Amino acid sequence: YGAGGGYGAQQGYSEERSSARRVADHYSARSNQTLEERENSPIIHLKKLNNWIKSVLIQLYARPGDCVLDLACGKGGDLIKWDKAKVGYYVGVDIAEGSIKDCMTRYNGDTDQQRRKKFSFPARLICTDCYEARLDEYLYEDAPFDICSCQFALHYSWSTEARARQALANVSALLRPGGIFIGTMPDANVIIKRLRESEGLEFGNSVYWINFSEEYAEKKFPASRPFGIKYKFHLEDAVDCPEWVVPFHLFKLLAEEYDLELVLMKNFHEFVHEYLQKPEFTELMRRLGALGDGRHDQSTLSQDEWEVSYLYLAFVLRKRGQPPSQ
Ligand code: SAM
Repeated sequence: YGAGGGYGAQQGYSEERSSARRVADHYSARSNQTLEERENSPIIHLKKLNNWIKSVLIQLYARPGDCVLDLACGKGGDLIKWDKAKVGYYVGVDIAEGSIKDCMTRYNGDTDQQRRKKFSFPARLICTDCYEARLDEYLYEDAPFDICSCQFALHYSWSTEARARQALANVSALLRPGGIFIGTMPDANVIIKRLRESEGLEFGNSVYWINFSEEYAEKKFPASRPFGIKYKFHLEDAVDCPEWVVPFHLFKLLAEEYDLELVLMKNFHEFVHEYLQKPEFTELMRRLGALGDGRHDQSTLSQDEWEVSYLYLAFVLRKRGQPPSQ
């Protein structure tokens, strides 16, 4: 458990444990929505945009036959994306028991119609804390993986340095040389900028709010204490729990210590502008319907949802070393 040290004081272990439990309980309690509930969600177009971004990342970096490790896989919302990429094997890990159960149901097919069309790859699902457990002990028979994905979840590891390190140690230990790590997480630069622009310690719009505690009244974040910078995040119909700021330049440096080199980092707005120009991804956007008829004119995504997407970034890292020859 836990490794490293050197960036200053850490939160107490039990406080840390209960924060992780709060996050797990929050996600565990979120029940599966019906199709109608989903379509009526105030952030339906944001969810579609997020799915588009994850699909683009998967299409860009996954190869047929790949072994996939999906850290914080949730309810398995990306299973279909991996199936489309024709991957060969899938391991999903999540801390929330309820989400792992839903993921299993989704994989096995929860209706007669779905049961007839099974996923084309075998899968294994594990319920554990990805940022505390040594995953190589669970997965020594499944490793090495060609690609690891951690979507909208890596920031839950930045509550302490030990957890942030364990997250990266797990990815590094399980990826093959030349293997790829893709992910999405909040963009700390945008969050801190918004905080500094706001009057108090809270900001947001009709679909989200972020609240920092009085501890950050001066809105200063010393470089000597980059872990455990907690805020409360509420997103309508999606999230309501503590999260932690991930200063990206430090994430990059820490990842390098684990032989993970940065390939790409883009705020979601930049990501959309760049990849929406590519015909295959324009077509995918049209099918998903996040941005109306596929043009980036926000004709269906509301301004408030578009503002939320600015709070996130996508990243790609590569494990150092040469891939084994075929
Ligand atoms: N990756 C999924 C997706 O994109 O649909 C789920 C994203 S959801 C916003 C965040 C997920 O992170 C939840 O399923 C939650 O249970 C999981 N999570 C949070 N902390 C975790 C931890 N310490 N270990 C494993 N999973 C964790």
